[in-house]
Amino acid sequence: MASWSELREELAGRGLAVASVPGKGRALVATRSFFPGEVIVWQEPYVSTPNKISEGSNCDNCFASRNLRKCSVCRVAWYCGSACQKEEWKLHQLECRAIAALTEDRKKMLTPTIRLMVRLVLRRKLQNEKATPSSGTDNYNLVDALESHISEVDKNQLVLYAQMANLVQLILPSLKLDLKEIAHTFSKFSCNAHTICDPELRPLGTGLYPVLSIINHSCVPSAVLIFEGRTAYVRALQPIGKNEEVSISYIETAATTMKRQDDLKHYYFTCTCPRCVKDSEEDALLEGYRCKDQKCDGFLLSNSENKAYTCQKCSISRDGEELKKMASEVLLLSDKASSFVSSGNNSEAGSMYKTVEEIERKLYHPLSATLLHTRETLLKIYMKLQDWQMALMYCRLTIPVYERVYPPFHPMIGLQFYTCGKLEWLLEYTEDALKSLTRAADVLRITHGTKSEFMQELLGRLEEARAEASFRLSDGDEQRIGR
Ligand SMILES: [Zn+2]
Ligand SMILES: [Zn+2]
Ligand SMILES: [Zn+2]
Ligand SMILES: [Zn+2]
Repeated sequence: MASWSELREELAGRGLAVASVPGKGRALVATRSFFPGEVIVWQEPYVSTPNKISEGSNCDNCFASRNLRKCSVCRVAWYCGSACQKEEWKLHQLECRAIAALTEDRKKMLTPTIRLMVRLVLRRKLQNEKATPSSGTDNYNLVDALESHISEVDKNQLVLYAQMANLVQLILPSLKLDLKEIAHTFSKFSCNAHTICDPELRPLGTGLYPVLSIINHSCVPSAVLIFEGRTAYVRALQPIGKNEEVSISYIETAATTMKRQDDLKHYYFTCTCPRCVKDSEEDALLEGYRCKDQKCDGFLLSNSENKAYTCQKCSISRDGEELKKMASEVLLLSDKASSFVSSGNNSEAGSMYKTVEEIERKLYHPLSATLLHTRETLLKIYMKLQDWQMALMYCRLTIPVYERVYPPFHPMIGLQFYTCGKLEWLLEYTEDALKSLTRAADVLRITHGTKSEFMQELLGRLEEARAEASFRLSDGDEQRIGR
């Protein structure tokens, strides 16, 4: 099987090295400079699976969502065509046989995580027997070297991993599995597996990309991970110099330091990025109340026992009791609104969340995360209701907060400008659409490259908007000249 020196060689060829950083363990470091938008590293998964099993949401091989057909033997795998089925066949035929032999009850226990493990065991077997090739970036040794943090996993979780390992053995009775090792590998999945997302960052599946697992987290990352199908691309978000570490973010970063640290517990480390160590004003904005003076953008800090909150800019105070009352009203209404969403009553949900947003506007700072999330929800609801005007209003309101919490070339900013542009185009605000689509393309060119179907569609829309805008402009000129 391929060795470490082969991985080092492959990475060196790409201008990268694996270094050990004190307090962080392994890290991926640039040995040359990378420009914004440049692909730093890309990788196919060692193993992957779509999140929805037996429903047929994505092709097992390319993650396409169109023209899917079920494997008629196991009824679990889906393919978009015979080419994909053929590419997966060596691995799937072993998996297929095992799944087809299961009772219907056992089949129901086949979660994406279990399936990922079954495929991992079989993939290793195929490579060990040299039935499929391996390389410096595609071999089981890399999976073996992943951190499991097993000593930090709590007892209940360990019991669960042991039960899951037993299930894998039941699915693969012809193999003699090391159950302890399998349990450890489940623990590796939990802190190393990557969520495979579509270009709009909606989760589709799970994959193991051991080379990408070398890349550490930062809340102000220098790079971003984007998938095309199930192929993972890490692109530079900013110029990365020689000897600089490559970092991506593992979590949603539009959150307070406390929330981010909490989300990162799952990965067993404490982030020490510049945003996390700075005891910052940003947190006071993200979770704080707004100033009583609607024109003031200062942030508030509480006095003794939260009796009053005082603006740090103009010194006006707000009564703690009153704020608490408003906050509990918001909570009550939000609960009702979200139950309307789950029952599919979008128009009731929309008007309820509108009330929530109005109260939150009086309560929270304009840059608060709570207000942002309410507006994101309203955007989604009005999109479903096809009320483009309302959707556009809430979409526009989210952008200033995104621009504050994300680095300038963050996919979320690009995607939000894209949504804005599409809505403006529908509403025939051609000039605005042109501006928004231009901003979207400027950001997404860096994060997503230009070659994917998704980007080609965006660039096509941009061209269309440009043509329409210049047509309108010349049309207007003629009218003026005619007059
Ligand atoms: Zn396919
Ligand atoms: Zn099958
Ligand atoms: Zn951080
Ligand atoms: Zn103030």
